[in-house]
Formats: sequence, structure tokens, C-alpha cells
Amino acid sequence: MWRFDGHTHSSFSDGTQTPEELASAAAEAGLNGFALADHDTFAGLDRAAAAASALGLQFLPAVELSTSYEGNSAHLLAYLPRRDDPALAEVMEKIRTSRRNRLRTIMENISADYPSVTWEKLVRSQREQPKAGGELEPWGRPHVADLLVAEGIVTERGEAFERILSPAGPYFVHQWAPHPADTVALVVAAGGVPVLAHPRSQLRQRALPVGVVTEMVDAGLFGLEVHHREHSRAHIAELTELAARLGLRRTGGSDYHGAGKPNLLGENLTERAVVEEILELGSGPLS
Ligand code: AMP
Ligand code: FE
Ligand code: FE
Ligand code: ZN
Repeated sequence: MWRFDGHTHSSFSDGTQTPEELASAAAEAGLNGFALADHDTFAGLDRAAAAASALGLQFLPAVELSTSYEGNSAHLLAYLPRRDDPALAEVMEKIRTSRRNRLRTIMENISADYPSVTWEKLVRSQREQPKAGGELEPWGRPHVADLLVAEGIVTERGEAFERILSPAGPYFVHQWAPHPADTVALVVAAGGVPVLAHPRSQLRQRALPVGVVTEMVDAGLFGLEVHHREHSRAHIAELTELAARLGLRRTGGSDYHGAGKPNLLGENLTERAVVEEILELGSGPLS
């Protein structure tokens, strides 16, 4: 069977492996190919493409864009966009700035209760990691989670999210992000292929209302990421029906974050015909 993982992360966002380590791990997992979809950055794509090509793997450049609807976050995968599209680049820059400002506030909130958890330590802890725009971007709560582990306050990222970083907790602050339908339009205008990521993820906030998904379809949404670890059997059945009703393709991916999450490469897959359709539709560079 041809096996393609449609959703992974590297150390250019909140994964723990470099693009080269990720490509090697994909080969070891017996994959024929994978997409790198770091949060709100293209910075790891060139290195991942080169490493994948050296290993004979099919590589699909992507990005996982933050979007927001009534204070709830939703993620949009964009495959093969033109990475030099000015409008897309500008919005991604705005999201990264908002991520940084929001993380500073979250850190101030946490420091008040845990004085050993400081912004300076967070900056220092991330210096070794390759990043998009210098050493600070694109930052997210997983980097705070890693610092909480290093300081001995929790034992792993998952516990940090449950006890300290949850949107229901006292330290959380929202980040600005564009409306999901506007983001779909932006991706389409940049020649990319937009897919709604993990639409029923239970670890996140409320699912997008179907009306918003319909708006996204009108703006050019290509598919739903039906096959994802955070979906139950019932979710998969519901999303399969929704995709059929709305004329959307189904994709799947592991949402692999290296050691940052239990997700394993190849645990969810995208069908070959769908990958080929994305390769035909997308107008950005493959490497
Ligand atoms: P942020 O980008 O700051 O909103 O943080 C969200 C990111 O945290 C997601 O992209 C996930 O990679 C990660 N995340 C969310 N929940 C967990 C969890 N329970 N364990 C590990 N990572 C998580
Ligand atoms: Fe992530
Ligand atoms: Fe996501
Ligand atoms: Zn992801």
C-alpha cells in the first residue's frame, strides 16, 4: 500500500524534530511521502523538501494556518500555496506577531503563580531551535509546556495543557487570527489547496458551526481532514457524510509533533488519488 501522511510538524513550529530528522523518521516509518504543515510558517519547507528528495520520498509543502471564529480557534491546512504571495505572507506575519504578544501575556499570568517560569527562560530555552523569523517565531503554548517540564512543574506537554495551558484555565489568552472563510479565500488566491484540519478535535474548543463550513466551501475549501487521532469513530462517520454532502475530499494525517505528542507518523493517511489531485491543483513550488 502507498502510504502518505498529510500532516506533520517540525522544530520550525512546535514539533521537536528538525526537517531532516522528520524526513528520516518518515522513511523509517515506511511512508512513501509526507506533508510538512508547520503552524503559520513556511520556514522548514525547503529543508524538508531537500531531505525528503534525498530519501526518495514524495514531499508536499504545506502550512497549518491559525484561524478564529467567535473566540474559538480552527486550523486550516494549506497545501502547495505560492509562498511569495504578498497577501498570504502579510497575514501569516500578523498571526505570528499576535502569537508572540499573546504568549507574553500568558507567560506574565503564569509567572505570577510560578515565579521560576519567566519570559527570559523561555527565550533562552528556544535559542537552540531553528525558527522562522529569528529565535522567537512562531511560538505557541507547546514551548511554554516544554519550559514547565524543564522546571519540574509538570512531567510532559500533555499534563501542561491539562493543568496550566488549557483555554478553560486561568492563564489562557486568545490570539488574533483571521476568519476561517477569509483564510480559505486567501489560500485559494495564493494558488493553495485548503483543507479544514481536525474539524472535530476534542482537545480544542467548540467545533465550527456548519454554516461557517458552508461559507468556507463557498470560498473554495477542498477537503476535510477526516482521519485524525482526535476523531472518534462517530466523528469520522459524521465527517465522511458531511464531506460527501458538501462535495469535499477527505484527507488524513498523524499531526506528528516528534516527542511533543504521542501521535505516530503514518497513523493516519491521505489516499494517493487525493494527494495527486492536490499536486495538480496547487500552484506553489514543490521544493
Ligand atoms: P497554540 O498554538 O499556542 O494555540 O497551542 C496549540 C498547539 O499545542 C497545538 O498545535 C498542538 O500542537 C499543541 N497541543 C495542544 N494540546 C496538546 C496536548 N494535550 N499535548 C501536547 N500538545 C498539545
Ligand atoms: Fe501544534
Ligand atoms: Fe492543528
Ligand atoms: Zn498540526
